[in-house]
Amino acid sequence: MKCGGRVVHIAPTAYRPALVRRKWVVEKRIRKRPKMPAREIPAGDCWRGHGDPSPYIPGLPEDVPRFRSVGVLFGQMACCTRCELAPGRTQVVPGVGPRRAKLMLIGEGPGANEDREGRPFVGRGGRLLDALLEEAGVNRSEAFVTNTVACRPPGNRTPKPAEVRAHAPWLEEQIRLVAPEVIVTLGRSALTWFLPREKITQVHGTAQKLERHGREFWLLPTFHPAAALRNDELRPLMQEDLRKLRSLLEA
Ligand code: SF4
Repeated sequence: MKCGGRVVHIAPTAYRPALVRRKWVVEKRIRKRPKMPAREIPAGDCWRGHGDPSPYIPGLPEDVPRFRSVGVLFGQMACCTRCELAPGRTQVVPGVGPRRAKLMLIGEGPGANEDREGRPFVGRGGRLLDALLEEAGVNRSEAFVTNTVACRPPGNRTPKPAEVRAHAPWLEEQIRLVAPEVIVTLGRSALTWFLPREKITQVHGTAQKLERHGREFWLLPTFHPAAALRNDELRPLMQEDLRKLRSLLEA
C-alpha cells in the first residue's frame, strides 16, 4: 500500500475486516435491488393486432409473471398471443377503471365496438349496463370493468374454455392488483371461471363469499347485458340482482 509516497506493508489480517465490510455492502446492494418482472417485452417489439408489422409469434408470453401495477400488466398483455383469439383482434382490450376498486365487473369478451375502441362495454350492452348500475345506485366509474378474455372472439361467439384458461392468469393478476371486495360476473363465462358447476339461471342474484389470492370477496352472479338485450325477460332479473350491490359494497 502507498502512503505519502512511501510503501507501507500491512499484515494481511489488518485489512481483512475492511474487505469483509465491502463484501457485506455489495451483498446488501444486491439484496435491495427491486425485483423486475420475469420477462420484459419492450414496447414496439411485439405483435399487437391487425396492421402491426412486427412478427406474429404464437404463445408469447408463455408464462404470466406477477406485476407491480395494473399499468405494467396491461403493457405486457398488449403483446399477448397465448390463445387462438389473437390473430383475429384489432387490439387487446384491457380492463378499465380505478386501479384499486371495491367493485369489479367481469363480462365475457370484447365485441366489435370494444375491439375497435379498445375499451370494454362501449356498445349497446355497455349503455344498458350503465343504466342498470345507475338504478342500483352505483356509478360505473366506481368499478373496474374487465372480461374473461381480452381479444374479440370471431362473430361474437362465446369464448372457448381453452381461451378462458389461456387468459385466466391475466384476469387473476387483475383481481390480485385491484383487490375488489365485490365481483359481479356478467354471464355464464365469468360465472364458470369462479363456480364451474353452477348454472346462471339458478344462482343469479345469490351472493357468495369466495377467496382469491388470500383475500375474501363477495361474488354476485348475474346475466350478461347482451343477453338482456336479446331477451326482455332478463332485464328485470338483472335489475333485481344488481339492487343487492349497494348493500354488499357497504357491508
Ligand atoms: S384473449 Fe387473452 S390470452 Fe388470448 S391472446 Fe388475448 S390477451 Fe392473450
